[in-house]
Amino acid sequence: MRIAMISEHASPLAVLGGEDAGGQNTHVAELSAALAAAGHEVRVYTRRDAPDLPVTVRSPDGYDVVHVPAGPAEPVAKDALLPHMREFSRWLIERWRGDWVPEVIHAHFWMSGLAGLTAGRQTGVPVVQTYHALGTVKRRYQGVQDTSPARRVSYERELGRSVDRIVAQCRDEVGELVRMGVPRSRMTVVPSGVNLATFAPLGPAADREPGLARILTVGRLVERKGFQTVIRAMALVPDAECLVVGGPPEGLLETDPYARRLRALAESCGVADRVHLVGAVPREEMGRWYRSADLLVAAPWYEPFGLTPLEAMACGVPVVGTAVGGIRDTVLDGTTGDLVPARDPQALATAIQGLLDDRIRRFAYAAAARERARARYSWAATAERLVEVYSEVAAVRRPTRVVA
Ligand code: UDP
Repeated sequence: MRIAMISEHASPLAVLGGEDAGGQNTHVAELSAALAAAGHEVRVYTRRDAPDLPVTVRSPDGYDVVHVPAGPAEPVAKDALLPHMREFSRWLIERWRGDWVPEVIHAHFWMSGLAGLTAGRQTGVPVVQTYHALGTVKRRYQGVQDTSPARRVSYERELGRSVDRIVAQCRDEVGELVRMGVPRSRMTVVPSGVNLATFAPLGPAADREPGLARILTVGRLVERKGFQTVIRAMALVPDAECLVVGGPPEGLLETDPYARRLRALAESCGVADRVHLVGAVPREEMGRWYRSADLLVAAPWYEPFGLTPLEAMACGVPVVGTAVGGIRDTVLDGTTGDLVPARDPQALATAIQGLLDDRIRRFAYAAAARERARARYSWAATAERLVEVYSEVAAVRRPTRVVA
């Protein structure tokens, strides 16, 4: 099939760890690679955010990344991108008048959905929507700190009622969407996958400090990822070090306000010598860090899907996670890891210490985690299920509206 991915702010070619670069970038990159490997023609449309970017870049994984000129050719925070989406969709419509017209559009995040729906309506191409994150959830947890455009939730609701299919990533997301007023019948649940070649138990591992257990936690350095809870928990877990992977490159951590806050917190909890901020790690090197750890801790306040627990599981690393969002689907409590309430350092510390003290349970979790990731979350299987969805929506004929 000819498949157009739209990922307005999250380029599959981006360096990850920054404030707006994380799971969606990985998801779009891996999904596009898996679809290309299965013989489909994939073009990923993302905003041009640097002046020297060629319009089209061929990724080594066999898909094209097309840089769409919409807004200034420089980085723009994702919450400031909405005014540029009209330009984004106009460019797509113009482009698809040429010889390459997609059979399906798969939009990632709500603003891509708006651009995709506008372009899809004008060109007669069906639209599949994956939200990756929902405004209602963000508002609930971040309150006044949520900088999303004011109308985000109503746009998300309208999108849900207008696109040809919604691909939700977990059960929690289905519930949220239903409560927003989006009919369940419009949704199909297809979870993200994990790259089972990159994330495997065997392979190089980062160096370890002798005599200390290693806890790893990974993510963009934003408050909702719960790194503060992890640092507080570390005060109750002696004989262990905690590595925090993500954020700006190591050399820039010193000037990053949130990294400084985390370091100050570690200092005040008396664990600064056992908590280390690593900074951003290239995606292809992430396996080294997971494999070096005894446990992965994922302690977000909320999590639309959460790739890092799955990546750890694929490496055979047990997870202690908070019982939120997608983590409730991927981590089987008591089988591949332990789930605890969010924002509770005491509960987190008890779970971490309990698992560090029980080697046999850790090994059993590790084996079950690896098996679960392998059996249920390969990108090839995810791509196959999505192609079924694409084929179903593409089979419904829709009139093409002539562009004025
Ligand atoms: N990641 C990375 N380098 C880093 C930090 C994170 O490659 O320094 C990757 C990580 O391996 C995962 C993604 O970024 O693939 C984060 O996805 P997740 O779903 O956990 O969080 P999100 O960013 O979507 O909130």
